[in-house]
Amino acid sequence: MPVPGVSVCTPVYNRHLIPAQFVANHAPAGSPAIMPTYLGNGYAIAVVGTGPRGISILERIGARLLGKRPVRPLTIYAIDADEVGSGRVWRSGQPRCLSMNNRSGEVTMFSGPADDGAWRPGAGPTFAEWWQRMDARFPGPDAYASRSLYGRYLRFVLDVVETNLPPDVGLVRIPGLVSGIEKRGGRFELLVGDHVIACDQVAICSGHPREQPDRSVLAGWTNPERHQRRTASRASDDAGRRGVFPGSVIGVLGLGLTFHDVVAMLTVGRGGRFVGRGQDCEYIPSGEEPDLIVAGSRSALPIPTRGASQRPFSFRYAPRLFTPERIARLRSAGPLDFRADVLPWLEAEENIAFWRRRLDPSSFALFERQLSSLPSSAADVMLRLRQAASDLGCDEALSLEDLAHPFRGRVFPNQGEFRGELERLLVNDAGEAMLGEVDSALKAALEVLRDVRPTVRAAVDFGGLTAASHKDFVERIGPMLAFLSTGPSVVRSYHLIALLRSGLLEILGPPARFTAHDDGFLGYSPSVADYIVSCSDVIDARIRPPDLERDAGPLTKKQRDAGAWRPHVRAGDPSFRTGGIDVTEAPYNPIAADGSVERRMYVLGIPTESTRWFMQVGIGRPGPWGEFFRDADAIAQAALSEIGLPGLPCEDGASVGPHDMDYCFGPQHPDEPPFPGSRTHGGMSWKTSCSTTR
Ligand SMILES: Cc1cc2nc3c(=O)[nH]c(=O)nc-3n(C[C@H](O)[C@H](O)[C@H](O)COP(=O)(O)OP(=O)(O)OC[C@H]3O[C@@H](n4cnc5c(N)ncnc54)[C@H](O)[C@@H]3O)c2cc1C
Repeated sequence: MPVPGVSVCTPVYNRHLIPAQFVANHAPAGSPAIMPTYLGNGYAIAVVGTGPRGISILERIGARLLGKRPVRPLTIYAIDADEVGSGRVWRSGQPRCLSMNNRSGEVTMFSGPADDGAWRPGAGPTFAEWWQRMDARFPGPDAYASRSLYGRYLRFVLDVVETNLPPDVGLVRIPGLVSGIEKRGGRFELLVGDHVIACDQVAICSGHPREQPDRSVLAGWTNPERHQRRTASRASDDAGRRGVFPGSVIGVLGLGLTFHDVVAMLTVGRGGRFVGRGQDCEYIPSGEEPDLIVAGSRSALPIPTRGASQRPFSFRYAPRLFTPERIARLRSAGPLDFRADVLPWLEAEENIAFWRRRLDPSSFALFERQLSSLPSSAADVMLRLRQAASDLGCDEALSLEDLAHPFRGRVFPNQGEFRGELERLLVNDAGEAMLGEVDSALKAALEVLRDVRPTVRAAVDFGGLTAASHKDFVERIGPMLAFLSTGPSVVRSYHLIALLRSGLLEILGPPARFTAHDDGFLGYSPSVADYIVSCSDVIDARIRPPDLERDAGPLTKKQRDAGAWRPHVRAGDPSFRTGGIDVTEAPYNPIAADGSVERRMYVLGIPTESTRWFMQVGIGRPGPWGEFFRDADAIAQAALSEIGLPGLPCEDGASVGPHDMDYCFGPQHPDEPPFPGSRTHGGMSWKTSCSTTR
């Protein structure tokens, strides 16, 4: 049955369900030398790590190869230690209660929309379009899918890439861990088990650090990719199995997205059920849950949920004050202090979205007119805006710090008081989320944080801040912005409220402490009197940022020890050493300890966190290219630059589909009518921004 808007000439998604065999010549026994498995007689590009970042590079390589024939044979290796095609975070076989925190309609791994032609790199279905074709029960593009389903979509994208490769270009899928990279005779040799894969270009998209010094104490009962540091369990069931069992009290440190994973695993993952919707949601236990889950964090605030979907998925926010142009101007004067120079403009932008909903339309129109006459000083922009909003009848304004730390400075006489306050806050947050990402002033403002991430990066990345400010950003501001803008579906909030009411979940006041005691731990908060819980185990549910110096993964360790990779350091007095790998600007070549640059190697995504900000992105978005596709394309272009590709249809090698340019039009704001090709006040039109990015 054809799906409106999706035309399929070549349904290819089931052609490669079984990965290609890794046909290997083993090293001769006793020989110190490792035998090459793939030397090949042609050119070779390897992509190490096939999570979303690796797939995005492969998709752009595929798009750039469409309709061309390389002058010599080309082999592309897709290598992954976990699951080739989806990677560890999105692997199949993980419990379905682990869901993604993106709506399916806002996700695509194709760098252009499906058109009248066959699905191919550069023109394929969004995740929602694919899901709709695959499943008659497709719940709609606003639904949040399980992570394993997104993993299947990623594998499908790789299949489409492979199917569309030109003659003399082959894709080889290699399951295995790359444990070292040597350079020999101008080529790279990748060590995978006892095999060597030779290649001319290599892109490293290895995601979250695989191993850290205390990895040995990780326990296996919950999904391992979140890097939960869990203390060695003293709990065991009758069969001697270690882990959580009914009757235990489990502490959880962290109230972000991983906390939701842990809660899901300990409840529905153990056979419990949520029944009813919204405020009426109730938890029906299975009896297999622990007695109590006690969770906490520094702020005691569970990650705020996203407003219900109200904007087109391809919508791009047009900022009024926190513009890329302003940041470029500020940055040209030298390293910035994020708190003093940048944050006020970001907060101003967020509040504009807030007042858009809080003021009546005619007052907001007046307010908007005043924006152009504002003096350009970060020091007083918020004061001036607050005054203007107040003159028009709204005395409220949002502060990011207050939103992230609602209990700061508060003390509570008992846990009941704190729980009551928290529950009111969660109910209120869920109510705002239900109003929607446009109609709720609060959620509209928080969406802005998500929308302007690229501008934050423009201020921070590649040495934009002073050393002291970069430290402050990495340790406090960046995590706060991420916390406020990456929330899950509101359903998760209703689940938390139901669990709190059922007595299965308790949240500690700020800041939560878990200290070792006897055979377990004591959980408490210094700001809540008379409440201490004894826990058998504590799960650390915080995601660790990568740290090149501490990473014990064999590849990273070897590259670091050989001086081939170095950490990104912000010079200053004192300087600030981040944990991210130091890379050049696009195409992200690693910089060695001696300052030399490896031009045929690329490092993309999480390993470079702190050199660049917020690399934990696993999706492309429909609409004009954002950084996700631009990053992938820059690497694809560089990796293909040494092979002759006769017959290029256009200068930069990107294949232009029939609808490519139509794709670049759209409204600037849901309230505004589409206005193709024109400039809007305060921002670039889609057409303009698209043509500058492609
Ligand atoms: C539990 C969890 C849930 C998340 N949910 C979301 C979400 O809903 N939405 C979102 O946008 N982001 C989410 N994220 C953020 C996530 O980081 C990105 O979505 C995305 O997975 C990052 O893509 P990547 O390709 O950089 O890394 P990954 O997806 O982590 O893929 C990297 C791959 O490289 C492999 N690898 C590493 N080293 C080697 C080696 N030496 N040799 C061979 N293979 C290697 C790994 O095994 C892994 O499969 C989540 C993260 C986690 C941990």
